[in-house]
Amino acid sequence: MPTLLAKHAAVLVTMDDHQREIPDGGLFVRDGFIEQAGATAELPGTADEVLDLSGHVLLPGLVNTHHHFYQTLTRALPAAQNANLFNWLKTLYPIWARMTPQDIHISTQTALAELALSGCTTAADHLYLFPNGSRLDDEIAAAKEIGLRIQASRGSMSLGESKGGLPPDSVVDSEDKILADSQRLIQQYHDPKPGALVQIVLAPCSPFSVTGDLMKQSARLARQYGVHLHTHLAETQDEEAFCLQKFGHRPVAYMQEVDWVGRDVWFAHAVYVNDAEVKTFAKHGCGVAHCPTSNMRLASGIAPIREYMAAGVKVGLGVDGSASNDGSHMLAEARQAMLLARLRAGVEGASLSGKAAQPIMTAREALWLATRGGAAVLGRADIGSLERGKCADFFAIRLNRLDYTGALHDPVAATIFCQPVRVDYTVVGGRLIVKEGHLVTLDEARIVEKHNQASKRLVGG
Ligand SMILES: [Zn+2]
Repeated sequence: MPTLLAKHAAVLVTMDDHQREIPDGGLFVRDGFIEQAGATAELPGTADEVLDLSGHVLLPGLVNTHHHFYQTLTRALPAAQNANLFNWLKTLYPIWARMTPQDIHISTQTALAELALSGCTTAADHLYLFPNGSRLDDEIAAAKEIGLRIQASRGSMSLGESKGGLPPDSVVDSEDKILADSQRLIQQYHDPKPGALVQIVLAPCSPFSVTGDLMKQSARLARQYGVHLHTHLAETQDEEAFCLQKFGHRPVAYMQEVDWVGRDVWFAHAVYVNDAEVKTFAKHGCGVAHCPTSNMRLASGIAPIREYMAAGVKVGLGVDGSASNDGSHMLAEARQAMLLARLRAGVEGASLSGKAAQPIMTAREALWLATRGGAAVLGRADIGSLERGKCADFFAIRLNRLDYTGALHDPVAATIFCQPVRVDYTVVGGRLIVKEGHLVTLDEARIVEKHNQASKRLVGG
């Protein structure tokens, strides 16, 4: 039972129910779980591995609730730089159709390396096209090598252009094949236990790329095994028009019709919802993955995060796929969430004088969304805070740096207000993934080289 002691952090941010912040704090870890979190003086004096975090802020690992790792291969693509969602997708589908299992593997490692270096320890990924023999197994194998926790979502597309869907027929699959592979993956990989490194999620891609029948069948299969459900929803006005025209419902009502409401469901984006639909999410316990950068990048809109929080809807943050961000930095995403919520409050007539119609989102609220909020959205009670019994998932940032000069009166807020930085330590289940600012489980330079080769081949055809 290996032990790890992290000690003398300038401040330990627990994100427990009391949101305690403990000066000169630390953690004592045994076999991947936190045995003690508190003042260094109260912790055991030594362990198998000791990290002296003097001069660092120590925070719970960030939880990314929506991503498409493979899209790191097609960032900043000229033809897709200035398009809205539907046109962006139509430009990219044929390129993604050339992906191979090796492309899935390297792009997973690239995305997870970026995430780890931004303080993320758990990521939900949504892989929904499987060309040229690609499988979700390729992603899972790559994630195991770098060592982050993943909620690997078995995505799917079955509604091609010829049946009124958006994607070309060449990238959609038969529903029988999708369901059989989904069941295989759950049986082979899904670990329901606390501390799981891999959990499987079923994730038909979006209302405009799968049939209602596949939505229903996926929900039935997921509930048979107790795995969660995820999809894109209410991302754009185009999608709303599509749902009204094809299904005769707004997106949320369509989800109700296909049995996609419940505590085991979370939606990416959920920008275009009305007050009644916010209440529907709250009543049924649906979660929301808020992706502010992607929503700005694709000019999609601004999700009503304040309304969700006020109604008690679970909200986490997602960097979204790297072709619509174009990065995988969770601290940056938390910063965008805070700033975008403030902009929305301002546009709606609030002022920063404190008389806001909606309260101004604070840095600590943004951190809450990125930790506890994300854990709740993914249905994981074992992550999101630093307290006894939780997974030893944390990160630390050295405070003596140019980015934080002049902000040391509140180092916790500095992690969100100041320029997003590359973190110094990231630990998952007691295992060091990042040490002194460098990846330790994989060779970063090698990832960059292989990834650029794969991207060049993919985009060049
Ligand atoms: Zn997405």
